[in-house]
Amino acid sequence: MDLFNFDNSYHRLNEVFYAEVLPQKPPQPELVLFNHALAAELNLNFEHLTQQELASHLSGAELPLGAEPIAMAYAGHQFGHFTMLGDGRAILLGEHITAHGTRHDIQLKGPGRTPFSRGGDGLATLRAMLREYLMSECMLALGVPSSRSLAVVKTGITVKRETIHEGAVLTRVMNSHLRVGTFEYARQFLKVEEQKELLQYAIHRHFPEISNDQNPALAFLKTVAHKQLELMLNWMRIGFIHGVMNTDNMHIGGQTFDYGPCAFMNVYDPKTVFSSIDRHGRYAYGNQPEIALWNLSVLAGTILPQIDENQEKAVEMAREVLNDFAREYKSRWRKMMCQKIGFDSDEHEAILLSERLLEWMLETKADYTNTYLFLSDDISQDLLPINDDLKHWVLDWKKEVLRHKTWSEVLQTMRLVNPQVVPRNDKVETALDAAVYQNDYAKIQELIAVVQHPEHAKKVHYQGFPNDFDVSYQTFCGT
Ligand code: AMP
Ligand code: MG
Repeated sequence: MDLFNFDNSYHRLNEVFYAEVLPQKPPQPELVLFNHALAAELNLNFEHLTQQELASHLSGAELPLGAEPIAMAYAGHQFGHFTMLGDGRAILLGEHITAHGTRHDIQLKGPGRTPFSRGGDGLATLRAMLREYLMSECMLALGVPSSRSLAVVKTGITVKRETIHEGAVLTRVMNSHLRVGTFEYARQFLKVEEQKELLQYAIHRHFPEISNDQNPALAFLKTVAHKQLELMLNWMRIGFIHGVMNTDNMHIGGQTFDYGPCAFMNVYDPKTVFSSIDRHGRYAYGNQPEIALWNLSVLAGTILPQIDENQEKAVEMAREVLNDFAREYKSRWRKMMCQKIGFDSDEHEAILLSERLLEWMLETKADYTNTYLFLSDDISQDLLPINDDLKHWVLDWKKEVLRHKTWSEVLQTMRLVNPQVVPRNDKVETALDAAVYQNDYAKIQELIAVVQHPEHAKKVHYQGFPNDFDVSYQTFCGT
């Protein structure tokens, strides 16, 4: 039986959208992480394969039956500047169809050079691929749409960065790899017919329900904007900083992906940035919704001719969608922040309380996640700089919130939106160190398990963090 049930619709598109390419054969593929739960969800037939065969299939050493490997073409705005990009270190093996008929891209990340590699080697370090595996699975556990990670295979290839690293290939699973940058590529370099083909494909693949809309292009923009709005609310809810929200890393279906320099915010501050290359804080925690809007305006620009033949009219219609995003985001964010302190609606008093609490966090350098857990008695008290201001706030808050509902209802609302455990930066690095230096993968598995099931786990250890860890913490892109 075949490992995957491939049906490769992207490969059937006009060949201007991709380049056929074969993965480099790694000398010593060795499976180090395999996501059994995901494999079961996808109905993969892997039981009949040995570890070694699985490692071969998921590293490019051997092509699984039905694979038609391609590197996808795309462009993008990186830190605001337009560039031609494309899969420089990723190869799409094909699209797997599950028993329920859902379609999933099966992509190898780090399998060698492609026609889009420019000066790069097309490889990935073990550490970076483990990081992506860990973060993507944690995001899903925190209720955030995300790409998935099926496996990490060490390749036996040495990867040169500032120092020497072990190489690895990640098998990434996603409901497509269509991004804003795919549309930028089409608009900039392809014919109108091809631009239309891409839009039709994207609508058919992600939002078939809008294909009969009066104006499918406009409906597409609205739907993508809506998905991004939900995604931004989720990121802001849990304190996630993506770190490199270039348009090529913004997914049309609204999933988080490309976990290069991402991190979680500990101390609350909208200006928080960890990525070493984000010198001006373009992708800081608090800027993310605005950047999503910026990226959406780029997307709008690429489909204007399909929205209306009259350019002015098209711009007007697109602008309305973008304005709606800004308005709607503000009101949804306020509501979400009120839920984080137990209110169901964003009435005036609740908003004031929520703002006061944020100010308190900023002033006292309190931890974002733990502040909310303190309110629901879900952390040990010594994890927070409790002072008189906070005690006063709690008195005012309890008086207000208990006017509306019982304490157990308040707790229920809070626990629905506030994560019990997020993958703290220091815990992530410790788990990665253990894997890379001691060949011990259990810490990665344990961290994922705690985020998935904090109620069963020794969560206390994972809720704390070294006080000054973040001050010098830096993350790196694409290593
Ligand atoms: P990323 O920051 O991972 O979104 O990558 C941005 C662009 O750089 C994409 O076109 C990647 O394919 C490309 N890229 C990143 N790392 C490498 C590498 N080691 N070799 C070739 N291309 C790369
Ligand atoms: Mg990318």
